[in-house]
Amino acid sequence: MTGPAIAREDLASLLKWYVDSGLDETIGEEAIDRFAPPPAATSAPAPVTAQRPAAPTPIRPATPFPARAPVPLESPQLVEDARELARRCATIAELEAAIRAFEGCAIKRTAKHTVFADGVAGAPVMVVGEAPGADEDRLGKPFVGVSGQLMDRMFDAIGMSRERDLYITNILFWRPPGNRTPTLAEQAICLAFTRRHIELARPKVLVLAGGTAAKAVLDTTEGIMRMRGKWTSVRLDDGSEVLTLPTFHPAYLLRTPASKRQSWLDLLALDKKLKELGVR
Ligand code: URA
Repeated sequence: MTGPAIAREDLASLLKWYVDSGLDETIGEEAIDRFAPPPAATSAPAPVTAQRPAAPTPIRPATPFPARAPVPLESPQLVEDARELARRCATIAELEAAIRAFEGCAIKRTAKHTVFADGVAGAPVMVVGEAPGADEDRLGKPFVGVSGQLMDRMFDAIGMSRERDLYITNILFWRPPGNRTPTLAEQAICLAFTRRHIELARPKVLVLAGGTAAKAVLDTTEGIMRMRGKWTSVRLDDGSEVLTLPTFHPAYLLRTPASKRQSWLDLLALDKKLKELGVR
């Protein structure tokens, strides 16, 4: 590593700070010097993995929420690759296989499992969360830890279960090390697959659990405090629109039980909407 030498005790306190912040894994053998100047651009062409048609129209939510500015990504090519791979999948099984074979997202290397989905594909309600945690990574299924168990109990209160009425997934298919918030690049890469996942699952209602999932799918900078409980819709690349309900993440409810009241109102609104749609 370049740069000034770091004193032993400073290194020890830096490591302690990482551990206290929740980091429990290293990503690589070599440390990355984040302060080093970027490498000079090379003229070598990016590897072409497929003949690409024009990029699909991004999801444009029919919402009043402010749109996000385009994210400058280190590897826009990976997002394009993911979109193209996802676009070629005609079934959920093909999409799952494509995601399991995809090597373009670095967090896959530190994860134990690819966490794809649980519940009933084609169910009227599809829940999209943020990313697998430690329990999900260990078991290979979304929302099976404590926050998932709370989510199950909440849906049970309106007579819905993952065995019968729900299809559950996340924006990300791999656990970010130490449960950190996924970077915008990781979100953009995985979202390409998740958008196709929504198209193929064709839910009547999409429930977005938490701010990260809501912002990513609705492509907005609006916070979950303002978005929760507000019905909106998402236009998909195939031209279809899905009714969408952002709500609090169950992990947030575990930390802030007083907010369960608002989540209960969201669930009642969901139940009412499903009845109006004639799917309950
Ligand atoms: N939190 C999420 O957002 N997803 C999971 O699968 C588990 C916890």
